[in-house]
Amino acid sequence: MLLKIDLHVHTDRSPDGCSTIGEIAEAAKRKGLQGLAITDHDLILSESDALRLSGELGLIVIPGVELSTPAGHLIVLNPKREFVGLSLRAVAESTRQDGSTLIIPHPMDPLSHGIGFSEATSLIPYCPLIEALNASTLDRYNSRAKDFALKNSLPMVAGSDAHLADAVGDAFTIVDSPSCDLVSVVSSISVGKTAPSGKRTSAATAAKTVCTRLIRRIRR
Ligand SMILES: [Zn+2]
Ligand SMILES: [Zn+2]
Repeated sequence: MLLKIDLHVHTDRSPDGCSTIGEIAEAAKRKGLQGLAITDHDLILSESDALRLSGELGLIVIPGVELSTPAGHLIVLNPKREFVGLSLRAVAESTRQDGSTLIIPHPMDPLSHGIGFSEATSLIPYCPLIEALNASTLDRYNSRAKDFALKNSLPMVAGSDAHLADAVGDAFTIVDSPSCDLVSVVSSISVGKTAPSGKRTSAATAAKTVCTRLIRRIRR
């Protein structure tokens, strides 16, 4: 079956996230998604919490994290350990040992802590998935990411990088999985049975995200 899953979503557990998991789930269902990966900044969603949320929300919830390494951002799906203070290479090595899934988000976007061409090249032996479409990234940087993936025969994924529920599902990954079971879905993603789809988030939604974030900061 083909499943629409947004593989890059931030909740209000991220310092710059604005929406609760409930608001995000409602938006995901409204947009016809079957699932999403929660990838808060340096804050792991555990597998047990993801399974509980899946049951409560009626969506596939993939546990994940977006790590801030000194070289830039990396996403790990189904993380099995904490990664505090690890280098890019050490994170990649850990995911290989643990059987977790490594995604390089917005790799060519210097404005969003993309790791860039040479660091991405250094990770090719770890067979990462490349986020070839990030709904919050400029088209030219998404194009460079897609070219990099194609040139190096790496599988491609997409995600909204939403920090507000309105943006969830603007970009998403079509996952070809034998079932909706979390293990099957994550395993299908990890072997690259994926295709990026969707579009960039509108300027109006991007502006609403910035305003909502500012209001949240002022109220804290
Ligand atoms: Zn990022
Ligand atoms: Zn992100």
